[in-house]
Amino acid sequence: MFDQIRWLKYFLPIPVSSPIYLLFFVTSKCTGRCRHCFYWRSLNQKEDALKLEEIEALSRKTGRLLQLTVTGGEPLLREDLAEIFQIFYRYNQPFNFGLATNGYFPDRLEKIMNRVLSATIRSNFTVGLPVEGPAELNDSIREVKGAFERTYQSLKILKGLKAHFPRLTILVDITASHFNQDHLLETYRMVRDDWKPDLINLIITRGEPKEAEAKQMAPEKIRALLGLMETDIRSGKIPGYGFSPRVLQAKDLLLRRIALEIFEGKKRRLKCQAGRLIGVIFPEGQVYPCELWSEPIGNLRDFDYDLKKIWRSEKAKQVRGEIVDRDCRCYHQCFLSPSLFFDPGYFWKMFQEMI
Ligand code: SF4
Ligand code: SF4
Repeated sequence: MFDQIRWLKYFLPIPVSSPIYLLFFVTSKCTGRCRHCFYWRSLNQKEDALKLEEIEALSRKTGRLLQLTVTGGEPLLREDLAEIFQIFYRYNQPFNFGLATNGYFPDRLEKIMNRVLSATIRSNFTVGLPVEGPAELNDSIREVKGAFERTYQSLKILKGLKAHFPRLTILVDITASHFNQDHLLETYRMVRDDWKPDLINLIITRGEPKEAEAKQMAPEKIRALLGLMETDIRSGKIPGYGFSPRVLQAKDLLLRRIALEIFEGKKRRLKCQAGRLIGVIFPEGQVYPCELWSEPIGNLRDFDYDLKKIWRSEKAKQVRGEIVDRDCRCYHQCFLSPSLFFDPGYFWKMFQEMI
């Protein structure tokens, strides 16, 4: 109970000393070649990623985290991934850990997740796997032969782990793009009926994808899938998160509708929490308010690995001001989600979704 009360202050419009919702790109290495990837320019460049001792220094100086999402590139390509999770558990004990993986390394996933889940017993854990369509379509969008089968093997491994670690939530993300917009319903039904994860999410291709055409989509095709997803959630067909499922399902229902409205060019009142509650760390220690911001606030290596110093800096204050002034609205769910959750203006709407 105390643990949940501690987060209440973040609903108030007061300054915060460091982000509580952290996205950490642990590597830019990836064996994927997805046509809709927004991170493609940075992939597989020569990099001097933060080492374990640097990550430990960062973690020691950062307070409690509500959420730590580890992403990339492909995080499983880091040999020390299990240790990274253990460090953050030791010093920051996130309420929920997230791992975004492409699912191409089922054996490695099993080995690492076994260790990590055994060592992080008081945190929830969500692992997200991507699928873009039935096998042939999926592999052509991801440009990796056999990707579908390997991701499916990863799903089966996660299901085996969940039998021992029920606090694990298995999420499957479908990214809607120009390339699969005519197969969204079919893909969703396949995931729902055959793969049966705890959660299915629909992401709209974002940022500047490798192939610009990826963002050319008919909104009504996305809307049709959202309608089916909402019906399934309300009828209890989708189990949801292993923690606070009703609140989070309500938040996700709203979130996906808002994302589609923003994609269509409509304006929504939403206070983006990037640069306040949300922060992004890139592999070499660059700290950004969000993935789409053009320049970093600072680099951990120049600030003695102290995220709080960066968050208190003049530059951070200036960026927070710019975010308010620009009033930019992207439909990037990683940022929409906490922004919506911590916006008291949406309490009532979320409550209505729960009834
Ligand atoms: S979307 Fe993910 S898996 Fe695909 S190329 Fe980009 S980083 Fe790699
Ligand atoms: S609205 Fe999007 S681009 Fe703008 S600050 Fe927030 S996350 Fe970044």
